[in-house]
Amino acid sequence: MPADQLTDTQDIPRLLGSYGGYGDGPLVICLGGMHGNEPAGIFAAQRALQILHSAQPPFRGEFVALAGNRAALARGRRYIEQDLNRLWSAERLAALQTDTQCNARGPEDEEQRELLAAIEATLARQRGPVIFLDLHTTSAPGVPFTVIGDTLLNRHLALSIPAPLILGLEEYLDGTTLNYMNDRGYLAVGFEGGQNEASSAIDNHEVAIWLTLVTAGCLRREDVPQLSALRETVACQASQLPRVFEVRDRHVIGAGDQFVMEPGYRNFQVVERGQLLAHDRHGEIRARENGYMLMPLYQSQGTDGFFLVREVKPFWLHLAAGMRRLRLEAVLPWLPGIRRHPEQPETLIVNAKIARWFVIELFHLLGFRRQRSDGENLIVSRRPHDAFSLAEW
Ligand SMILES: [Zn+2]
Repeated sequence: MPADQLTDTQDIPRLLGSYGGYGDGPLVICLGGMHGNEPAGIFAAQRALQILHSAQPPFRGEFVALAGNRAALARGRRYIEQDLNRLWSAERLAALQTDTQCNARGPEDEEQRELLAAIEATLARQRGPVIFLDLHTTSAPGVPFTVIGDTLLNRHLALSIPAPLILGLEEYLDGTTLNYMNDRGYLAVGFEGGQNEASSAIDNHEVAIWLTLVTAGCLRREDVPQLSALRETVACQASQLPRVFEVRDRHVIGAGDQFVMEPGYRNFQVVERGQLLAHDRHGEIRARENGYMLMPLYQSQGTDGFFLVREVKPFWLHLAAGMRRLRLEAVLPWLPGIRRHPEQPETLIVNAKIARWFVIELFHLLGFRRQRSDGENLIVSRRPHDAFSLAEW
């Protein structure tokens, strides 16, 4: 399909389309355009749906594609008043659902209300596991990558896409749709397909959709034409890079900071400690440690200047997976300075004075990634469904 047939972002429907849904099986929900200047995921979903409807392959479960911030898409902006991908906290959603008569609604309130209704209507048809695929692009060029909340099932799904996997982003970003769907107990993978305007980003997103549908068990591998060749188009972009990274630093842009990224940075560009990355009204911003650049900001909207990531060695990943399968986390509350939260079994309270820094690394390995500080205590938790194994899928 020539790209020029799929480049209109005016009046994009909320429901982009669906396929399958005639029996039990996984429900794959694909979301594109949560940011209005990132339409590539929408075009890729439309392309995949066209191919499915014309080829009519056998399909287990259902594939549903939804559009995110339609008002912002029509204007080619990241958002109108509020970033729609930072609004999915439990408190806000509760207020949104009870406050149906509110007159002073912003454009993103309307978008979120509609999108939530579309998600709920889709989930009501669930007849198997639910898999959420959130498609984005970045303002900088560079290799595509996946983002997950670190559960073993999410890892399995994300690693079926041959692009670097980023762990730990959720510790830095609140209110994302990815976290929201994950917290509801669904598998959730975010895919950043490339630069916002690049036609290759649409191709990369299409590959991510096919691989997700195959890994989920909706489609047979042989029913996706040229899947190996398509997969290779993504794999070859990432061939020189480590497979898994974790986030080490995030530069938050404050109001009136006048943040300006140094020109020329790409996703996964190697940076050295002390290297000049950006300027703002406080002066120079330099790298705090060696690592790789991720999502340098080259657009006017957004509050994340950049992220720095570093490689997670495969040894640690295998060790972590093994420890989790053995449920070794059960011994954690017996260690000094650590106790289980009285009401939340998946949350641990760690006395920061007693538990030393290496314990934090141990928590990461066991899937405890969300940290907040509560005075002298550190709170770590993980999602209950990480106890599932692939065999239970
Ligand atoms: Zn985005």
